[in-house]
Amino acid sequence: MTTQDELRPTLTTESGAPVADNQNTETAGIGGPALIQDQLLFEKLARFNRERIPERVVHARGAGAYGTFTVTADVTAYTRAAFLSEVGKQTETFLRFSTVAGNLGAADAVRDPRGFALKFYTEEGNYDLVGNNTPVFFIKDAVKFPDFIHTQKRDPYTGSQEADNVWDFWGLSPESTHQVTWLFGDRGIPASYRHMNGYGSHTYQWQNEAGEHFWVKYHFKTDQGIRNLAQGEANRLAGEDPDSHQRDLREAIERGEFPTWTVQVQIMPAADAAAYRFNPFDLTKVWPHADYPPIEIGTLELNRNPDNVFAEVEQSVFSPAHFVPGIGPSPDKMLQGRLFAYADAHRYRVGINADHLPVNRPHATEARTNGRDGHLYDGRHGRQKNYEPNSFGGPVQTGRPLWSAVPVNGLTGNHAAPVHAEDDDFVQAGTLYRLFSEEEKQRLIANLAGFIAKVSADREDIVERAVENFRRADADYGRRLEEAVRELRKQR
Ligand code: NDP
Repeated sequence: MTTQDELRPTLTTESGAPVADNQNTETAGIGGPALIQDQLLFEKLARFNRERIPERVVHARGAGAYGTFTVTADVTAYTRAAFLSEVGKQTETFLRFSTVAGNLGAADAVRDPRGFALKFYTEEGNYDLVGNNTPVFFIKDAVKFPDFIHTQKRDPYTGSQEADNVWDFWGLSPESTHQVTWLFGDRGIPASYRHMNGYGSHTYQWQNEAGEHFWVKYHFKTDQGIRNLAQGEANRLAGEDPDSHQRDLREAIERGEFPTWTVQVQIMPAADAAAYRFNPFDLTKVWPHADYPPIEIGTLELNRNPDNVFAEVEQSVFSPAHFVPGIGPSPDKMLQGRLFAYADAHRYRVGINADHLPVNRPHATEARTNGRDGHLYDGRHGRQKNYEPNSFGGPVQTGRPLWSAVPVNGLTGNHAAPVHAEDDDFVQAGTLYRLFSEEEKQRLIANLAGFIAKVSADREDIVERAVENFRRADADYGRRLEEAVRELRKQR
């Protein structure tokens, strides 16, 4: 034995006892069956069987990195959030990127929205901005979300994603036309997580020290430049290197090439909302830049890889309901559903103590709740009382709401979102189509037609409904798509 070997620590069991033999199972005699008293064998096999936790139903596949957010403009007129209170102020962050539809082991280079879930570890608690790389979404009411995702995932009978289901749902949900146009355009397959923008997508509320509130949309513009993959390139890369996005992010940070994003906001005074030409809380719509020009407020840099992907990425949890004083929700019905669904998903996946894990807990303050116990509770509260009010010096409420109350009217009911003067399901899809270059239009048509053409031959009605939505967005768009689909279906 060398001196170096002598310095190595002893391998132990989970309970800390020294392991005598990690190569040979204990057997009844030479060549005989294994003995149940071989604790090491059973402990290793049993633990291995339990290594996985349930993967996320959506956004299962992801990669993350820590970073720094720096304020570059004075926004105190709009929000009293402490982490935004001073130019130059820095806040630690963690960002988890993801694809949406694929399972945990799926390839990165696919046509799919990307998650852009950002945690700010602020001195007033963690603020989670759980966004995407697209400014809009397929639907505008959370009650449709499980149905929508079922169409993107595996069919109950075939076990595969089916074009029939995807196009049936989109055709019958015309509000998806804008996001589908975005997704099948060039930005639908980013070259990497570094080469795409992030968007808060929903409208949120900011409240200033005087109690005035504003509606706000967040934009994270990549400083690496937008880079995308054409469908053919993506198909090749997905086969050759399924981990392409994850590897690119880790290796860039290892090289010291820290990716950065310029952070912008669009700000709408509260008084504008009711008469704005689009419903400002409709997740299928943007606020055109000409109406509310983006204002630069900060920079985000990613500069540290997690040491342990399971602990820090798989177990990282984000909730759009994690607000801090001066920031709050809007009545966006998709956001309202997400305020519940995210924390609920993590209670199921990771457990009720998920927020105690190092990646999830506040880093710049501490959580002081009366929540206790549950699986894997680590006893952090010691002897502290676990109720409130108490006369033992326990933590107390502030009496000051984090955000402003908003007026409501009318009767309870299953109301559709209010329609404003220029709202329809197609207008912004048409604007986006016309913004594309002729080459991008050609790729968009080819991408869409290639997928729509896969709808079953006896379901021409699904094809017709799908094409009709694009026709209503723009006549040229619909005509070219119809021709391309017809041509491909003839060849089948
Ligand atoms: P503007 O001309 O002021 O802005 C156009 C926007 O389109 C820019 O944000 C630009 O992003 C983005 N864009 C450019 N090319 C593409 C592409 N191939 N795929 C997706 N987005 C692209 O117009 P409007 O603000 O009136 O918006 C017009 C359309 O642009 C909208 O209907 C929407 O689909 C899309 N868009 C709008 C955004 C917004 O917040 N207003 C944000 C993103 C997209 P960049 O600056 O990075 O080039």
